[in-house]
Amino acid sequence: MTQKLINYSGDYADEISIDEELKKIRGCMQCGMCSAVCPSGSFTALITRKIMRKALAGVQSVLSEPDIWYCTTCFNCYERCPRTIPVTNVILRLRNMAVREGYLPDNLKNVIKNLTNTGHAVPLGGPDSKWAKLREYHKLKKIPPTVHSFPEALDELFTLLDKIKFNARIPYR
Ligand code: SF4
Ligand code: SF4
Repeated sequence: MTQKLINYSGDYADEISIDEELKKIRGCMQCGMCSAVCPSGSFTALITRKIMRKALAGVQSVLSEPDIWYCTTCFNCYERCPRTIPVTNVILRLRNMAVREGYLPDNLKNVIKNLTNTGHAVPLGGPDSKWAKLREYHKLKKIPPTVHSFPEALDELFTLLDKIKFNARIPYR
């Protein structure tokens, strides 16, 4: 029986199946090695083997469930899979699809908000923040030479996000 790959409606239908590297997912034998070596799976509900099974079966809930976001992209599974399936890349592709479908956990939406407001996923805070004071204590500039020092660089970020119509998919402002 032919195994069904992701096949959702929309312009990106069969996205995984047309990618030569990701096509290897067809060889998944559900051995569970990816789950066994997954550090995130020890602390979260992430069961990598199950994600691969759902991706193969075209179970759309794999996009709306939070599990794919628990992956830390450490590539352990990718290195150990006996069928050389690029597991991490499959998960990253599923995340891309999830965002296109409008699914993103609230905590990650907050990360996007931080990014767009400050240029950092984990912002430093102002010059009086404890991190700024800690930097000063270690004889570093209170404000590092990143977007914190060059707020105008945020315009470039907005240009990029607007180009991919990110706000329409995941409203963040
Ligand atoms: S390690 Fe590879 S073959 Fe085994 S379940 Fe995971 S993806 Fe499938
Ligand atoms: S890349 Fe993700 S799924 Fe794979 S072992 Fe690391 S955390 Fe787990």
